[in-house]
This record gives sequence, structure tokens and C-alpha cells, in this order.
Amino acid sequence: MATNEAIKRHDALKKIDDDVVALISSPLYAERIKNNMLPVIGEGNHFAKIIFVGEAPGRNEAKTGRPFVGAAGKFLNELLSSIGAEREDVYITNIVKDRPPENRDPTPEEIALYAPFLDRQIEILRPKTIATLGRFSMNYIMQKFNLDFEIEPISKAHGKTYTAHAAFGDIAILPLYHPAVALYNGAMRGVLKKDFEIVKNFL
Ligand code: URA
Repeated sequence: MATNEAIKRHDALKKIDDDVVALISSPLYAERIKNNMLPVIGEGNHFAKIIFVGEAPGRNEAKTGRPFVGAAGKFLNELLSSIGAEREDVYITNIVKDRPPENRDPTPEEIALYAPFLDRQIEILRPKTIATLGRFSMNYIMQKFNLDFEIEPISKAHGKTYTAHAAFGDIAILPLYHPAVALYNGAMRGVLKKDFEIVKNFL
């Protein structure tokens, strides 16, 4: 039977879903409707110790409304199973909840518009660890937790652990490369696999 806390989390996350569905002020809203796409809010365990934060949905994600279900998602699944985890053990989301056209990088305005939804997800889920996937989410999360002074290029920061003070307690931030980089550069597969060995300690 679901506990009160489980119901509370479910309902609060559902409210985020409803709010994003109705986000007509987004420059990505018209694209969503025109292309018959869905926003992608996030999915996984509402009591996960760790949440993964990617950038923005791609085509497969916006078609299905689920994060990381395309090629990068397949590799993310592989990385998770390499450390004995399943998607159901963790929570997976993005900063930007609608697909930027042609898979372009999200703009600073889009990040600013959608980040409050990610902030709400973090408040609801109260994770012990936030693993960022790629530089956009690393930069956002590091800034959010006042670690601007620690920000380095992802080539230096990946695989390191930072401690941040959240309103609900201290958390670890783990910057990781975005799994899509391994699709263009095979050598990065090994780098991501090695970094995921660190993730294992935070499951
Ligand atoms: N890339 C992301 O950053 N997020 C997804 O959900 C899929 C691909």
C-alpha cells in the first residue's frame, strides 16, 4: 500500500506534469503541438537516492514522453546495468522538458524557463545525489547550489564529487559526460563506464 509520503510525492510530481503540459508561454510549446510531441517530465523511483539530470528530450523522448529512450538512453541503460542498477532504481529527468527543434542546444532562456520545474522535482524527491549528464545540467546544478566558483570544463569536472547544501540536507553532485558523446566518440564509452564506477557508491 502506498504511504502518505508516496502519495504526496506522486501528486506533487503530477502537478509538475500538468503545469508543463499547460506551459503555453514556452517558445517550444508551439513546436510540441505542431509536431504532435509530448513534454518529458521525468520517470523513475520517487524515493531514489540518486537522480540523473540530462539536457532536453530528443525526438524519441518527445514522441513517447519518456526521458532517455533513444540511442543515448540505450547507452545510459547499459551504464546503469554495468553497476548493477536498473532505471527503476533511479530517477531520470532533464532540465528542459520540451524538445528543442533539430536537437539544437537549449537556449539560456529555455533553461531559465524550465529550470524551476527541475527545482521542484529536486525538492519533492530530496535525492542524496544529483548526477548531471552533460555540461548544461552540470552548469545549472552547480550554480543552483552556489558552487559557481568550482565550475570547470566538463573535461576536468567529470567523475569528481562535489558537496552541496540543499534545503533538505547535504547532497553530492556528480558531473558526468552526456551519454550521447559516446555515440560520436567511441573512446568516451570507456570514460563514462569508468565514471559510473563512482556512481555505484551513491546508489
Ligand atoms: N538527451 C537528453 O539530454 N535527454 C534525453 O531525455 C534524451 C537525450
